[in-house]
Amino acid sequence: MAELFIGGEWIAARDGRIREIRCPADGTLVATVDEAGPQDAAAAVAAARDAFDRGPWPRTPAAERGRLLLRVADLLERDKDTLARAESLDTGKRLVESEYDMADIANCFRWFGGLTAAGDGGRVVDTGNPETDSRVVYEPVGVCALITPWNYPLLQTAWKVAPALGAGNTFVLKPSELTPHTAILLMRLLTEAGLPDGVANLVLGTGAEAGAPLTEDPRVDLVSFTGGLLTGRRVMAAAAPTVKKVALELGGKNPNIVFADADFDTAVDHALTAVFLHSGQVCSAGARLLVQDELHDRFVDAVVAGAREIRLGGPFDDSARTGPLISAAHRDKVEAYVAAGIAEGAVLRCGGARPDDPELRDGFYYPPTVLDECTPDMSVVRDESFGPVLTVERFRHEEEAVALANDTIYGLAGAVWTRDEGRAQRVAGRLRAGTVWINDFHPYVPQAEWGGMKQSGFGRELGPAGLAEYQEAKHIWRNLAPRPQRWFS
Ligand code: NAD
Repeated sequence: MAELFIGGEWIAARDGRIREIRCPADGTLVATVDEAGPQDAAAAVAAARDAFDRGPWPRTPAAERGRLLLRVADLLERDKDTLARAESLDTGKRLVESEYDMADIANCFRWFGGLTAAGDGGRVVDTGNPETDSRVVYEPVGVCALITPWNYPLLQTAWKVAPALGAGNTFVLKPSELTPHTAILLMRLLTEAGLPDGVANLVLGTGAEAGAPLTEDPRVDLVSFTGGLLTGRRVMAAAAPTVKKVALELGGKNPNIVFADADFDTAVDHALTAVFLHSGQVCSAGARLLVQDELHDRFVDAVVAGAREIRLGGPFDDSARTGPLISAAHRDKVEAYVAAGIAEGAVLRCGGARPDDPELRDGFYYPPTVLDECTPDMSVVRDESFGPVLTVERFRHEEEAVALANDTIYGLAGAVWTRDEGRAQRVAGRLRAGTVWINDFHPYVPQAEWGGMKQSGFGRELGPAGLAEYQEAKHIWRNLAPRPQRWFS
């Protein structure tokens, strides 16, 4: 046992604590791993600080840093099967979905590798005075605390690790305590690719014991956090006394707006994947279906029919179309939201009760659930249940659709379905969300920024802004003809 990676060495937790990782699909023991406490977190920060202040990485030429990221992409591709299997065992998600994730992760490293290698030597500034030389250069921020969730463990990690390294930072990664294995494997690949000791550090453990100390430590310069809204608020508050840079990728309650003129079959098909992919445990899930009145009955009937067909099963069951929820506690939370919705007047159209299939008994399964006739004041509409729960609201016209869609504290993503090109553009322009899809749902590419408006967070991952998040701009002014100014004489 030695799964903490600190200063280039694999070490055990100082107080000897361990955690059992169990597959949410059937409760089987995947492995036991070290569970870090505050002392381990502090040791990891010390290693990252030392590597930043004295090590070679921040001063390594950008082209070389970029080449290392490209090597990591190759290694991720080489080990994709092992990585996908590990991800599925930790999360319970279907193997095929983990395989898609691994391809995206290699792409992410490749894209940031290219961007880094292309380099940005900074910018010459015209001061208007020929006797000066003024330029802006981009430097790494310093020691980064990277804190990630359990739903897309390695993908969310890659979105942070690749740009953090590209920009020349050192980091301490704290993955979700429920899904540590692909983070462990990534540390091995970074070492194999030639990353100097102390640049990448890994602590496993709970948010309170291993995460919070990172957000408070004065030696940490930046916290990049992906997770729930309540935790995000805590992270921001903990980072405030030492004025760390903070980037928050939080939840969403994303509207999927369907106008009556939409391509019916395609919109139904996408409405299902929008919300039920990975059993709804997706930050950008289209969990709020807004349907134009005249289409409502036919559309919801078709969505319900589709939802009933979705087979639940474990990661290696080829006939399954979605997997379990991450934990018993999470399933309880999802159930409570459904019960509250029904109590507040929503009409249960399908799902709404744990499956009785004996084969699913040992996993945390919950079926695709559709709640019709919902209203904006219901908690199941307002809060992120982060489960396979679709709420349906009606609208009459474009103005009402936009108002309903924006009536949320969140602003991560949203979609609009219509054949009217002008309307599509108008609605996309008015949605207060970091990503808007027109006649589509879910796709993203590493070239385009990802992130939230409102309480979905701030800062951007991916895209050029995703690299800039990990850089400081510095203005260097040089006087080419220094002479006394005599301001005071
Ligand atoms: P969470 O907030 O419970 O935990 C996220 C991470 O924070 C974990 O590693 C956890 O251990 C750690 N943590 C918990 N308390 C902490 C503290 N006080 N200080 C520091 N770290 C702490 O979230 P989760 O349940 O793991 O993930 C689900 C959430 O993540 C959902 O709300 C989802 O919308 C969000 N998410 C957002 C995006 C996005 O891109 N915006 C992507 C994926 C997931």
